Amino acid sequence: MSLIVVGTMAFDAIETPFGKIDRIVGGSATYVAYAASNFIQPINQVSIIGHDFPQEEIAELKSRGVVMEGVEVIKNKKSFFWSGRYHEDMNSRDTLVTDLNVLADFDPTLPDSYLDSEFVMLGNLQPKVQMNVIKQLKNSKLIVMDTMNFWMESAMPELEKVLKKIDVLLINDAEARQLSGQYSLVRASKTILGMGPKFLIVKKGEHGALLFHADKVFFAPALPLEEVFDPTGAGDTFAGGFMGHLARTKDISFENMKTAIIVGSAMASFCVEKFGPTRLKEISKEDIDKRLQQFRELVNFDIEIR
Ligand code: AMP
Repeated sequence: MSLIVVGTMAFDAIETPFGKIDRIVGGSATYVAYAASNFIQPINQVSIIGHDFPQEEIAELKSRGVVMEGVEVIKNKKSFFWSGRYHEDMNSRDTLVTDLNVLADFDPTLPDSYLDSEFVMLGNLQPKVQMNVIKQLKNSKLIVMDTMNFWMESAMPELEKVLKKIDVLLINDAEARQLSGQYSLVRASKTILGMGPKFLIVKKGEHGALLFHADKVFFAPALPLEEVFDPTGAGDTFAGGFMGHLARTKDISFENMKTAIIVGSAMASFCVEKFGPTRLKEISKEDIDKRLQQFRELVNFDIEIR
């Protein structure tokens, strides 16, 4: 049972009200891999990096069962670079710089050894690239995809085609409203589920996440944390926990997806505690179990309905 993760492996510069870092490893596929590897290995990574991507990071990922055969290295170019600044409330940010560098050439061919993977996480990328990956898959059981407002504005016809091919769409509340043209997230979910995906997850940052399927809905809170230091990568880390749990249990029912979004929320709650993926590299299985227990206590209550 293996998982394909497609996305960026990057350098980020991040500024939050609590601090600033000029260069730290990031990228959607990096966060997904760090989170998911706690639950499932191997992880078949698909990305593109330049000559500057640190060997130690690659070694660290490999030690967690992340297979690098599908990560293309472009020797004469730099890795993707993104820089962002968070607002006071940490729920919104401005993108300051996006240097595509190697990402401009990203059009992956999946290695033969990846083709039978059953679980597929397509990080936020050009819809054309996401479609190209989907076309190569031979045995997929669940395709989960992230996207962003930029693609809704610049590549909507391609995005609509990809939506018809996937099982789960994972976006934030502003993106769900933009994609559907509906303010109510319940109405938005109906419109979006009508576009192709069977499940929709709407991430609401510190306010948790909603899972929609047909006429069913489930809500998972985010853990109320004393301090959120850096939210970068929280969405991708959520996706990694979600996918890792589903791939490990091989159960793609709505009931199991409810557990998966709690696992995703627990992983995201670690991610925000330190800059970039730093915290994800420190945590143990015991830390994760303890946090899952905190989630259980957070939402568990008795009620007698007469
Ligand atoms: P998140 O905070 O979950 O939205 O993810 C942040 C990560 O996404 C950062 O580490 C960036 O390197 C990466 N990223 C930012 N912009 C893009 C983009 N346009 N395409 C792909 N990855 C991006």
